[in-house]
Amino acid sequence: MSLVVVGTVAFDAIQTPFGKTDKIIGGAATYSGTAASYFTKNVKLVSVVGDDFPPAMIDQFRKSGMSTEGLQVKHGAKTFFWSGRYHEDMNTRDTLDTQLNVLLDFDPVIPDSYQDCEFLMLSNLMPQLQKKVIERMRTRPKLVVMDTMNFWMETQWDALMETIQLVDVLTVNDSEARLLTKEYSLVKAAQKILQMGPRYLIIKKGEHGALLFNKEQVFFAPALPLEDVFDPTGAGDTFAGGFIGHIAQTRDISFDNMKRAIIFGSAMASFCVEKFGLERMIGLTQAEIDERVQQFIDLVQFDIELV
Ligand code: AMP
Repeated sequence: MSLVVVGTVAFDAIQTPFGKTDKIIGGAATYSGTAASYFTKNVKLVSVVGDDFPPAMIDQFRKSGMSTEGLQVKHGAKTFFWSGRYHEDMNTRDTLDTQLNVLLDFDPVIPDSYQDCEFLMLSNLMPQLQKKVIERMRTRPKLVVMDTMNFWMETQWDALMETIQLVDVLTVNDSEARLLTKEYSLVKAAQKILQMGPRYLIIKKGEHGALLFNKEQVFFAPALPLEDVFDPTGAGDTFAGGFIGHIAQTRDISFDNMKRAIIFGSAMASFCVEKFGLERMIGLTQAEIDERVQQFIDLVQFDIELV
């Protein structure tokens, strides 16, 4: 029941109304893999970094229970770098810089020990590389989840469309759903995206929660109302990691179980935003996670008796 997570492992520089960081560890696969590792100890990372990436962090990935056999370290190359600035509302941000660096000639290798994978999380990465990973799995995983972002919609449309066709679940945020479809209504956007290939679509709405669609059904999960959101970076990836982590743990890909997975994903994302970068995501206890999930249950539970 292993889970392969592919995506960026990065350096990020972040500006929020609360402060600024210089080159901290980030990356889509870093957040997704770390979140998933709280649900299954069978997380297998596929990514690439330069030799400027701290070996202590790779040790940390292993300590969290991730296999790093598929994490390539390229000598003489620089790690992917991303910089972003959040607006006052913390729901919107501008990308200030994206330096692909080592990603430019990344050729993902899937080690033999990863080939039994049942679940595949394609976290944010060039869409043609996400596609390569699907093609390089000898047996198609039971569920392939893909995350992407506006950057690839703006720069690699055709490759993105080819990859989207191959996945089971796509996760995007609300503005990305609108960008993909030119539809303002998220319900119309969802129906259009579901015609592009995926059987399920998750639209993340930041502090306003997330929607899960298939062609017939829709489910809504709130985000936890938090007093302070310190740094939203990685919240989407953490959400996706919690989502696929729960599915890998339970091995149940029904719509009903996806509803539960969305709650676990939302609970993990609520930790991520409490501190800069990965800080809050390391060393969480099961009791802390259970308590958060209980808060979600309490938040949306009500009794109505229809006569
Ligand atoms: P999120 O806040 O969930 O959208 O994810 C933010 C993370 O995605 C950061 O840690 C970045 O390193 C990473 N990231 C930013 N831009 C890209 C991109 N174009 N492709 C892949 N990963 C990216």
